[in-house]
Amino acid sequence: MNEPRPGWLAFSREHSPLLTRRRAMLVVNRVRLFAVLFAVVTPLWSVVDFLVFPFSLWGSLALMRLLASFAFAFLLAGFHPRGNLPNAYRALAMLFFIPTAFYIGSHTLLTSYHLTGFSAAISAGYAFLPFVLLSGLSIFPLTLLENLLIASPILMAQGASAFLAQGASGWSPFAGAFWLLVLITGVSMLAGISQLAFMIALVRQANRDPLTGVFSRKSGEEMLDLQFNIASRGNSPMAIAFIDLDHFKSINDSFGHEAGDQVLIGVTEIIGANLRRGDTLARWGGEEFVVIMPNTDLPQAEAAVARLRAIGFGMRPNNLSITASIGIAERIADASADWKALVEIADQRMYRAKQGGRDRVVSTD
Ligand code: GH3
Ligand code: MG
Ligand code: MG
Repeated sequence: MNEPRPGWLAFSREHSPLLTRRRAMLVVNRVRLFAVLFAVVTPLWSVVDFLVFPFSLWGSLALMRLLASFAFAFLLAGFHPRGNLPNAYRALAMLFFIPTAFYIGSHTLLTSYHLTGFSAAISAGYAFLPFVLLSGLSIFPLTLLENLLIASPILMAQGASAFLAQGASGWSPFAGAFWLLVLITGVSMLAGISQLAFMIALVRQANRDPLTGVFSRKSGEEMLDLQFNIASRGNSPMAIAFIDLDHFKSINDSFGHEAGDQVLIGVTEIIGANLRRGDTLARWGGEEFVVIMPNTDLPQAEAAVARLRAIGFGMRPNNLSITASIGIAERIADASADWKALVEIADQRMYRAKQGGRDRVVSTD
């Protein structure tokens, strides 16, 4: 089972698919929020430009602002929260690319004008855009690597332009500004990473069954949906095992509900410890569990379940072994149209295992 690891804050590779899906949705939603804001504010600022800048300068800037505003509108129309990480990356890249392009264009233009007084002050504001951009990183729950991938092109562009601009006034004012930018980026990255840590904890809590800590039925269903779609697209096998503990009620009846709870916790620990990475254990009902096994065909699933049964499911309080009745179903072998059909088949087979005398596996009709 996936225990959170510090490495999750640096790389997304080992994030659970459910976390990745929620994170991708959140990122795209926040990109869209920013895009709306920028699409409106960018052209509106033309009014300020109009009041302080020469007409020709205002005209060129207004055109750039309009283009940027269209690009933000396009971003808004083109990206919707679909829960897919590459899609979220593209949205993020575009959100940061548009103002960077605007910054380069407007900054180049403004340096060719000699402005004084109030218009010089407004013009200086244009140089703050990279600061605003890199502070904006803080609202996204991103890993260290993702933060670096977004921030470094902007920092490098800024560093290069500071280097190229060294002239009459020398290096130091630019180096100072660049250093500040690096510091702001560092703080934003910390903020973004701590958002990610918070999100990992929240998603985990929301996905888990409070008693046993394994996936709840609701998130098990979400995971089934996700894995089934992946398997269908790749035409790869995917198996599930429906596990129902035998005569569980008698544990409660003889030893109390609390003892029953402890047995359930023990059973999930044993199953969880003996699954492959990538397998998911969900508590489907009281003493019923579903194991989701992606990329696993019927013989492999039978072998996995045989291994689980050989290890056993722990002991009852009276030291008799706990047994289970198990139904296995596999996407291709059982020609299932969707994950619900797969669960239905596994459930029926589990029921046949009960009828057949319990403590057994049924994997065919
Ligand atoms: P079978 O072999 O036919 O599956 O018998 P069984 O007793 O396991 O099945 P049944 O469905 O009759 O009973 C399941 C029992 O599981 C009934 C219920 O009290 C108990 N149970 C369900 N959830 C919990 C729980 O969270 N804690 C405890 N202690 N017991 C639970
Ligand atoms: Mg049951
Ligand atoms: Mg039972």
